[in-house]
Amino acid sequence: MPIVSGHDVSALAQAADTLAADGLVAMPTETVYGLAARADHDVAVAGIFSLKGRPVDHPLIVHVADAQGAAAFADITPLGRRLMQAFWPGPVSVVLPRRPGVASAAAAHQATVALRCPSHPVAQALLAQCLARGVPGLAAPSANRFGKTSPTRAAHVLDEFGPQMLVLDGGPCEAGIESAIVDATGETPRLLRPGTLSRDVLAQGLQQALMDGGPQAPRVSGTLASHYAPDAAVRLLARDAIHAWAQEQVRAHGSGPAGAHRVALWSVMPPTVQGILWRRMPDDPAEAAQQLFELLRGWDQQGVAVIGIECPPGEPAWEGVLDRLVRAGAPRP
Ligand code: AMP
Ligand code: MG
Repeated sequence: MPIVSGHDVSALAQAADTLAADGLVAMPTETVYGLAARADHDVAVAGIFSLKGRPVDHPLIVHVADAQGAAAFADITPLGRRLMQAFWPGPVSVVLPRRPGVASAAAAHQATVALRCPSHPVAQALLAQCLARGVPGLAAPSANRFGKTSPTRAAHVLDEFGPQMLVLDGGPCEAGIESAIVDATGETPRLLRPGTLSRDVLAQGLQQALMDGGPQAPRVSGTLASHYAPDAAVRLLARDAIHAWAQEQVRAHGSGPAGAHRVALWSVMPPTVQGILWRRMPDDPAEAAQQLFELLRGWDQQGVAVIGIECPPGEPAWEGVLDRLVRAGAPRP
């Protein structure tokens, strides 16, 4: 059976056996579903890169059972320790100096490694079973083909990789977007990728402000690479531009019979034009994050050609969602 309950003891044992033998398993986390391989075996990690079609110079996040487990992979800096104490287990990945000779492929052969301790009970249980088999951590990017939307349900993973993949079902993901990534190699924390915990919350937990990314995380919208992209075209819209856009798109794509709309809109106010699939954008950024990827996947399955999304407020709490939206809407390669 491809999808098995992540709470089933024998399924967890089977998954841990598969991972210990260098195989791949999809696991739920509180952020999105991950495609896991043992991080300490480069040959196992190579399986992730080839299945996802991911360029081998894009490092993966290594998942560990706790802060102690992190020490197997990295030198824990004082800043890294404070991050772990404040936010682990949880949706914060910590970039640290990598221990030489460890998890080289997972780190894309960089001198640093990104580590995270997930809070999802199934991920925790799997990591414990892996430790019992001598597996110190799991490299796991999102369980989707490179550049596409991340899976937030077990069924999404099946859609991506088919029934030969063992998928542990842990229900719908609570956060819905990927972890925040914080560079803790120095004394100043740098936010490399925003997540569900806002930079305000991170700064509060650390009692220290976060600087911006650096070269891995260009913040100028024109230089952002396309990522998190559904099959449909995505357009981010200011509220006062929605009406004209909707008119133009319905004219271009047709309004179709009911159920066959080819234009979709995620916005606070309903559209003023007929023939559009509409979902209300939540006022709460955490709710919006939880819905985002599932919404995009659902519209792809319905054959939608273009998706308009109202640009969310430019507040820190929306930073993670806005980052995904800008990349989903970026020009495709
Ligand atoms: P994901 O594909 O969701 O697993 O995210 C992996 C991302 O984590 C990468 O694309 C990088 O942005 C970031 N990352 C992982 N490892 C490192 C590292 N050693 N240094 C900087 N960023 C990293
Ligand atoms: Mg991803």
